[in-house]
Amino acid sequence: MKIICIGLNYTDHAKEMGKPLPEKPLVFLKPDSSLLKNNKPFFIPLFSDNIHYEIEIVLRICKLGRSIADRFAHRYYDHITLGIDMTARDIQSSLSSAGMPWEISKSFDGAAPLGEFIPAKEAGDPGNISFRLEKNGKTVQKGNTGNLVFGFDHIISYVSHFFTLKTGDLIFTGTPSGVGPVHRNDRLTGYIGDRKLIDFLIK
Ligand code: ZN
Repeated sequence: MKIICIGLNYTDHAKEMGKPLPEKPLVFLKPDSSLLKNNKPFFIPLFSDNIHYEIEIVLRICKLGRSIADRFAHRYYDHITLGIDMTARDIQSSLSSAGMPWEISKSFDGAAPLGEFIPAKEAGDPGNISFRLEKNGKTVQKGNTGNLVFGFDHIISYVSHFFTLKTGDLIFTGTPSGVGPVHRNDRLTGYIGDRKLIDFLIK
């Protein structure tokens, strides 16, 4: 399986990063070795001093497809959850300012903590899903899919013109503003609406 991620997909997050809004979805991948499931702890890697959380809604692909039209894209996912796009911001910044690919800053082991899936229908209108991240019980990120630059259907359509989508593939759809660092013994808890879907410790 593959993990497809979309960068700078909320206006307020692009602004906090000092980046212009992309004209097309900004796509990158994480390997399956980055997955961290079942609320297992995240271990801060030795190679970074500045690991950031980014809460994102994650779609799970439920059938094979390529070159999917926007209007049919909703048929290609049936479960959603929350994931954290863990980012070594120090590595990303130095590679990015050198004009180099910053892949390793987001694709290392454990860089994709993944919550419990729920049927997409239970989350309601895909254009109006509220979600949030708490760090140590305090809300640090709040998002609503109404503020996506590129909505779920367009993301699926766009990426499927480059990659064949297969059952079980995951799509991280982008993070709202409020990204920030994690430290040892922090606890991250994510909610869609009032439903807690991810809850784990930083070690
Ligand atoms: Zn992200």
